[in-house]
Amino acid sequence: MNAYENMAVFFQAQLDFIFFFYGLAFILLGAVCFAISKAQGGRIKWSILGTFALFHGIGEWLDLTALMIGDTPMFAALRVGGMTISFILLMEFARMNAGQFDLPAPGRWIYLPLVGIVVYAASTVNLGAAAALARYIFGFLGSVGAGIIFIAEARRSTGGARTFAGFSAIYFFLYGIAAGIIVREVPFWPASVLHYAWFMASTGIPIQLVRALLACALAFSIWAIWGILIARELGSERYASYIRKQFIAAIGAITTILLVGWTLTEFLGEIYRRNVEQTARGDIDLLASRLAGETAIVDGMVLTLARTPGLLSPVGDGPHQGDGYGQGALDLHVKAAGATSGYIMDASKNIIAASTENARVMTEALPKRLQPSFDAAMTGKPGRDFAFDSDGSGRSYVSSMPIPSDKGTVAGVAILSKSLDGLEDDLTRFGRPYFFVNPDGLVVLSNRRDLLFKQLWPLADGQKNELALQRRWLGDRPMMATELIGSEWITFDGRREIVRRRFAENSQWSLLVAMPAETIVASRLIGIIVTLLGTVMALIYFIGREHSRRESVQTESRRALQKLAQDLRFQAVTDPLTGLFNRWKFDDSLVGEMARSARYGTPLSLVLYDVDHFKQVNDIHGHQAGDDVLVQLSQVVSDGIRKSDLLARWGGEEFVILTPGSSGPKTYQAALKLSQSIAQATFADVGRVTCSFGVAEYVEGDTAESLMARADGALYLAKINGRNRVEIATLPNAGRATSVA
Ligand code: GH3
Ligand code: MG
Ligand code: MG
Repeated sequence: MNAYENMAVFFQAQLDFIFFFYGLAFILLGAVCFAISKAQGGRIKWSILGTFALFHGIGEWLDLTALMIGDTPMFAALRVGGMTISFILLMEFARMNAGQFDLPAPGRWIYLPLVGIVVYAASTVNLGAAAALARYIFGFLGSVGAGIIFIAEARRSTGGARTFAGFSAIYFFLYGIAAGIIVREVPFWPASVLHYAWFMASTGIPIQLVRALLACALAFSIWAIWGILIARELGSERYASYIRKQFIAAIGAITTILLVGWTLTEFLGEIYRRNVEQTARGDIDLLASRLAGETAIVDGMVLTLARTPGLLSPVGDGPHQGDGYGQGALDLHVKAAGATSGYIMDASKNIIAASTENARVMTEALPKRLQPSFDAAMTGKPGRDFAFDSDGSGRSYVSSMPIPSDKGTVAGVAILSKSLDGLEDDLTRFGRPYFFVNPDGLVVLSNRRDLLFKQLWPLADGQKNELALQRRWLGDRPMMATELIGSEWITFDGRREIVRRRFAENSQWSLLVAMPAETIVASRLIGIIVTLLGTVMALIYFIGREHSRRESVQTESRRALQKLAQDLRFQAVTDPLTGLFNRWKFDDSLVGEMARSARYGTPLSLVLYDVDHFKQVNDIHGHQAGDDVLVQLSQVVSDGIRKSDLLARWGGEEFVILTPGSSGPKTYQAALKLSQSIAQATFADVGRVTCSFGVAEYVEGDTAESLMARADGALYLAKINGRNRVEIATLPNAGRATSVA
């Protein structure tokens, strides 16, 4: 066996694990797609891709079940149907997303003729043909379509999302080839050429492994796209770098778990495989020794016969009349060996003596089936062979020996042939199925009568077994895809069995026994389940960590937003220079206080004041000094008012104080005090600053405008009356004009 074949044999035994992680990769992909879909990830409609992946992943696990437990036609049909539907979903993913990217796509009607073709193939040819067609049509077109969608997505994306969309496209194209071009062997082109066995023979790895690796790559690259989308949405560089690290850690962890799991599975399986193989070897040895018991006696007898002196000198009248010395010796040896027939031939192929046990039929020529034995002995060596009887039903062991001449050359040949039918009858109660197989893989002896004369593996190209043709067995599908070497697992009677082969001594004929492989299946299943649990636990850990990290980033940004909102709210009501409330806030409070006053009858007044000759302050000391005066003034006034009063900058160097609960005269007194504290204060750079005050009291029926207008009028009065003083507006029914005049 070359390296490829070794690898192929190894992977063939690992198909269960390959199916397992193939399915796992797709189920993971499905979960990732649904997660992106929930997070509303961009242009692509992910959920349909997720449905495909889940469907396909579960399909792979059903394949795994069939591989481990055995298959039935119903189950196989169900899986082909599921596979077809999953690939239709993939095609639908491409079709539905095409519009997003202004790509042309046919309507849903397209599925009708396509599904029709597959169903037609299933009903007229067989399930295998339908499966191959479903892969060609839906698998290939769906994958290529999905690849095109990802190319379009990559072209519209930037950064990491672009890279991973590009990777996804490549993986989908490759998957299209692996899952949509290389199919199970079906007798039509191209499935007759590009099939699983061809791929295995030319690469040494099963195509399922390639598909599984591509599915893993797809799951990871779409996972990466998801991570990038979330990181972008959160807009946190810290989170983005965390998710990158986590992604690499997750890939590392899952890869490690799968590799360790695979090793564990192989280890567990190996323990039981050795067990089963040992039993199988014991069985096959037992069978071989039973067979040897039959053949050894024939070999021994033909040897003593060939060594009998004077065997070739005819004594009677004719060449083989039965009364010659040779005839006597032959009959004796035939009887002793329990042989069914025997011949003594001279070197020119003349029959010197022929056994007459059966029906005393004289044979003019050596039967065709014994020719190879004669030819073998003529070379000087013993010939040992298994052969069919002339009618093709009986099976015999044929042993031949050269008869030496005095000079040491081959003078003739002695042949004994013994039927093996008796052995078969003896072995009917042998505990397990056994097969004695000719070089063409045709079952010659077996305790499974139904499999007698059936082909175990296909004949080499062009070769046809005449017997099989004659009996029309060739139509039957061989149980094995290729000739068995050593041992192999096959599904036998719907059960997984391990079949072991051993060549009979000195012959191309071989013995096979089938052993149930349940213990191996069960132990490997333990390995697979442990791996699955490990993967699920790792995923839960990573997802949990990612969640808490995302939550903390979200909380953080929520806090930042709250702070921002607070700041905005503060800014909205605050004058930036003085830190006092602004006019907007004052207006708002005035309306509220007026309403309260109207409702409860409590007094409400306000003071409007303006810096005297402020233009001069600016002109002499500069605008900055003017600003400083306004800030210091705000401090002086704030210190001089009640907590319940509301001080606001009205605009420029005009300010307003709302004094709830305070009547006009009381507020007048307060303003007077304020004017004094201002006048006494020393303003940096500027020195003395004074203000003029106008006071007004709220009366029922006042609007904000009318109240403000009265205060403004009073302020105006204060200005024209000489500044640095307080005026109070007269009540409106007394007439505003009087107070102004
Ligand atoms: P009056 O005694 O009649 O009020 O004289 P005035 O110079 O104060 O006259 P008026 O109120 O009309 O002038 C206000 C001046 O105050 C105009 C403007 O240059 C100045 N001013 C308004 N807002 C600011 C400000 O925020 N900072 C500074 N430095 N100056 C301001
Ligand atoms: Mg002014
Ligand atoms: Mg002024």
